[in-house]
Amino acid sequence: MVKKLSILGSTGSIGKQALEVARKLSIDVVALAAHSNIKLLEEQIREFRPSVVAVYNEELANELSMSIKDLPIKVLGGPDGICELAMNEKPDIVLNAIVGIAGLMPTMCALKAKKHIALANKETLVAGGNIVMEEAKKQGVNILPVDSEHSAIFQCIQGMHNFKELKKIILTASGGPFFGKSINELKYVTPRQALRHPNWNMGSKITIDSATMMNKGLELIEASWLFNMDYKNIDIVIHKESVVHSFIEYIDNSVIAQMGLPDMKIPIQYSLTYPERFESTVNELDLTKYGSLTFCKPDYKTFKCLNACMLAMAKGGASCAVANGANEEAVKLFLKNKISFTDIGDLVYEVVDRYNNIDINSIENIFEADKFSREYVIKATI
Ligand code: NDP
Ligand code: MG
Repeated sequence: MVKKLSILGSTGSIGKQALEVARKLSIDVVALAAHSNIKLLEEQIREFRPSVVAVYNEELANELSMSIKDLPIKVLGGPDGICELAMNEKPDIVLNAIVGIAGLMPTMCALKAKKHIALANKETLVAGGNIVMEEAKKQGVNILPVDSEHSAIFQCIQGMHNFKELKKIILTASGGPFFGKSINELKYVTPRQALRHPNWNMGSKITIDSATMMNKGLELIEASWLFNMDYKNIDIVIHKESVVHSFIEYIDNSVIAQMGLPDMKIPIQYSLTYPERFESTVNELDLTKYGSLTFCKPDYKTFKCLNACMLAMAKGGASCAVANGANEEAVKLFLKNKISFTDIGDLVYEVVDRYNNIDINSIENIFEADKFSREYVIKATI
C-alpha cells in the first residue's frame, strides 16, 4: 500500500474523496495542489499537514501563503509550481485529479521524476496517449487507473496469463440523464438539467461529458492506451444502474465483470492499495435491491460525441487531442449558455472531421492541436 501520497486537484470531487480514503487508511498526504479554491485547500492543509502545496493561480498562492504562515509549509504558485510539486521526491505515488488538459504537463513532470501515477485525469491520455505511455515505460513507472471503468478492467485482468488471451473490452455507460431522448428533445436542454447526473456526483465538466456521452468516447481512447487495445475491440454498452463497472472478454468468450456500488472511493482506494485490498467505507453491493440489471446499445446518432471520438481514433495522431480540446471549449460555452447542448457534439465532430491530421512527436504537437481545436470552436460560435 502507498504510504506517502501527493494529490493534484485535491479540492475537486475526486480529490476530496481521495482525502477521505487517505484519512481512513492513515496514508501520509505529503503534497496538495489546486487551481484556486484556497479556502478549502487551507482546511485540507490544516488537517493533513502536507509539507508542500501549490496553487495554479499565483495571486491566490500568495494569499494562501500569508494565511498559513503559522505552518512550516512551502507554497508554490503557477503552472511551474504545480509541476515542481508533481516532481516532489517524497510521495510513493501522485494522484492526478486535475480536470482537463491542464493535467497533462503535471503528469509528464511526475513521470520524468519517476513517480508512479494514480490517474483520474483522463484528458492526459486522450490528448497525449503515446507520449505519456512511452514516458511511463521509459521511466519504469506504473500508471494506475482511477476512472471506475478502467479500474474495473484493471481488476478483471489481474492474474491474466497472457495479454493475447484478452479479446475485448466492454465499457459500461450509465447513458447519463438524457438516455433515450431524441436530438430534438436535446436541443433545448439547459446546463442545469445537464448537470443533474442520475448515479454519480462529479465535477461539472465530467458531468456534462456524461450527459453528451463524450465521457464514454474519452474513456474509449483512455482504455485503448492503458490496455494497449485497438479501439475496434472496445465496445460500449449502456447499463443504467452503474453497478457493473466494465467487462472483459477472453478469446474463449468467457466474460469477467467487476461490480460494486457506484462510488469512486472503491477505484480510488484500489489505485492506492494495489495489489493489496483493504476494508472500505463504501457499503456492500446488495444485488437483490436492484432485482434486475439492464444492458443495451448506445444511440450513436443522437450522441454525436461518441462518433467524434471514434473518428478521432480512426484518424489517429493528434486527432484525439483535437476532439478533447474542442470538447473542453464547447462545454465551457454551453455552461455559459452561449451554445446549445447538441452544438457540443456537432462542433466536436466537425473539428475532428476537418482537422488535417499530424502525428504526435512531441508535447508541443499536442498543445498545437489543442489550440487549433479551441480556436476553431470559438470562431465557429461567434
Ligand atoms: P472537479 O472539477 O471536481 O475538480 C477539479 C480539480 O482540479 C479541482 O481541485 C481544481 O482546483 C483542480 N484544477 C483545475 N485546474 C487545475 C490546474 N491547472 N492546476 C491545478 N489544479 C487544477 O473535477 P473532478 O474531480 O470531477 O474530475 C477530475 C478528473 O477526474 C477529470 O479529468 C475527470 O474526468 C476525472 N474523473 C472524475 C470522476 C468523478 O467521479 N468526479 C470519475 C472518473 C474520472 P479548484 O477547486 O481550485 O478549481
Ligand atoms: Mg468513468
